[in-house]
Amino acid sequence: MSEWEKNVKKLIPYVPGEQPKDKNVIKLNTNENPYPPAPAVQEVLEDFYADELRRYPEPTLLELRSTLADFHGISPDEVFVGVGSDDVLAMSFLTFFGDKKRPVRFPDITYSFYDVWCELFGIEYERIPVAEDLSIDLTGYEGPCGGIVIANPNAPTGLYLDTGALCHVLESHPECVVIVDEAYVDFGGESMLRYTDHYDNLLVVRTFSKSRSLAGSRIGYAMGQKKLISYLLAARDSFNSYTMDTITQRIGVASVKDKAYFDRQVRQIIDTREMSKNRLLELGFSFPESSTNFIFATHERVPAEEIFEKLRDRGIYVRYFKKPRIDNYLRITVGTDEQMEQLFKALEEILSFKAKRLSS
Ligand code: PMP
Repeated sequence: MSEWEKNVKKLIPYVPGEQPKDKNVIKLNTNENPYPPAPAVQEVLEDFYADELRRYPEPTLLELRSTLADFHGISPDEVFVGVGSDDVLAMSFLTFFGDKKRPVRFPDITYSFYDVWCELFGIEYERIPVAEDLSIDLTGYEGPCGGIVIANPNAPTGLYLDTGALCHVLESHPECVVIVDEAYVDFGGESMLRYTDHYDNLLVVRTFSKSRSLAGSRIGYAMGQKKLISYLLAARDSFNSYTMDTITQRIGVASVKDKAYFDRQVRQIIDTREMSKNRLLELGFSFPESSTNFIFATHERVPAEEIFEKLRDRGIYVRYFKKPRIDNYLRITVGTDEQMEQLFKALEEILSFKAKRLSS
C-alpha cells in the first residue's frame, strides 16, 4: 500500500438496488412508485427555462418548507429539507450523534445505510436484534445511549411499531435524539409527527421517493421542534448551502399541493398490496404484516435466492439480501396490478416447476 493510501478512510459503502438499463423489466426491487408523480410536476418541467439555471438556487428552500409546513400543520422553521431522506438522515447522524462514549442504537434488521453513516462519521453503534418474528424488540434499548434510530414502518420487514411504544422510548431517553424514519408511513401506520410538540428530542424523517413517486428528484425532509431543526440547518450550512436545485424545489412544491392525487395513488398502492398478500399466501409464501409499499416474503419450500434468480431471468427484479436472518426472504415492491399479475404468473411457473421436479 502506498504512503498516501494509509491515510485514506476505508469504507464499505451502502449498495443500492439495481437500476437496470432495460426499460422493459418489471422493477419491483427498490420500492419505487409505479405511478407517475402529480400532473403539476410535469407542468413545472414544461414551464422551466434553462436560463434560470444561471443563478444559484434559493438556499433556504423556504417555499418548499412552507408548503410542507402547511401540509402538516406546523411552521416552516420546524421543517428541514434535504436531497432525499438519505441526505437528511446523514446530516442528522452527523449533527446529533456526537456522544463519544455511548453508542447509537438501531435494530439489526433495518435500513442498511444506518451503520454505513456511523462508520463514515466515526459514531459508536449497537445493532439491537429484532425478535424472532422480525418485530422490533424494545427491551434492548433500555439504558442511556448516544441516540436511537427506528424506521417505522421498518424496512425491509414492513412491520409497524405502534406510536405508544415509541413514546415510551422517548420518555425513557431524554439524553439523546430519537430519529423516526417514516419513509413508508404513508402506506400504513400512524406518524410520530403529532408528538414533536411534546418531545424536543424527536426528529421525524420523510421522503418524496415512495408515496410521491419522486425518487429521481431526491427530496427528503425532517420535522421537529425549532431548536432541533436549527441545529440541522447549521450543519447543512457548514457543509453545502445549495443542496437542492431550483427545478427540484419547484417540483416538490407542486407535488405537495396536489393532495387529492397523492391520496388516490397511496390508496391504489395499498389496495394492490392487500390483493398481492392474498395471492402470495396462495402461492405458499408467508410474510410479516406489511404497512409499506413492499412485502417481505419467504416461501415454504423454495429458497428465496433461487426464486430471485429465476424471476430475474424472466425480467422481473425483486430485492434479495444475502444477510444473516433474512437470506430466505424476498422484498417485493408493490407495483401496478398488471405488474403484480405478471409476477404471480412467473411465480406460478417457477414454483410448480419446482414442485414437479421434487415429486418426480
Ligand atoms: N429510509 C428508509 C427506511 C428507506 O428504505 C429508504 C429508501 N432506500 C430511505 C430512507 C432513503 O430514501 P430517499 O433517500 O430516496 O429519500
